[in-house]
Amino acid sequence: MARYTDAVCRMCRREGQKLFLKGERCYTDKCAVTRRSYVPGQHGQARKKSSEYGIQLRAKQTARRYYGVLESQFRKYFEMAERRQGMTGENLLRILESRLDNVVYRLGLASSRAEARQLVLHGHYTVNGDRVNIPSYLLKVGDEIAVAEKSKQSDKFKTIIEKNGARPVPQWLDLNRDTLKAKYVTMPNREDIDLDVAEHLIVELYSK
Ligand code: SF4
Repeated sequence: MARYTDAVCRMCRREGQKLFLKGERCYTDKCAVTRRSYVPGQHGQARKKSSEYGIQLRAKQTARRYYGVLESQFRKYFEMAERRQGMTGENLLRILESRLDNVVYRLGLASSRAEARQLVLHGHYTVNGDRVNIPSYLLKVGDEIAVAEKSKQSDKFKTIIEKNGARPVPQWLDLNRDTLKAKYVTMPNREDIDLDVAEHLIVELYSK
């Protein structure tokens, strides 16, 4: 599958905020956004006025890159969000948050969403007792997520848990750190989602 492979920190600098794409490094002062808080490239430090379209596009790209989703899939999530009751923008973010790779990352069972994707693909997690190896799998309220029994014993997982243990787990998820089992307790509210994006701009962009 086509995926962006350039230096990922450039994406954060382009969007002007941390997208947390690199795991541990994102939480240190080595983070490129902390060190060089301007847009990459030759004219990165020049002041540029954005058009309305440009602002909407940046909002969409920020969300898409944050969750590591390709354009076609992002568009499908938008259509799904439109069909749901309530605000389309918030619905969209809730759908993105419900992806298995994102939930695994939020639980601290992976250091980044990219790592979560890899680990899901390699079958290290179960949902309601069944192994699931689809990173885009959409979880529902009540679902139980766990690290597969065999994987729990591996040094890799011990390191991951140790590294990410201090990261707070959002209140819409419930994690038992001893058993490495978690529950999707409730749908996240907008204020539970720490992505700094005006989601209504994404709705405006796709509604043209
Ligand atoms: Fe983004 Fe992380 Fe790189 Fe910082 S270290 S620029 S948050 S990917």
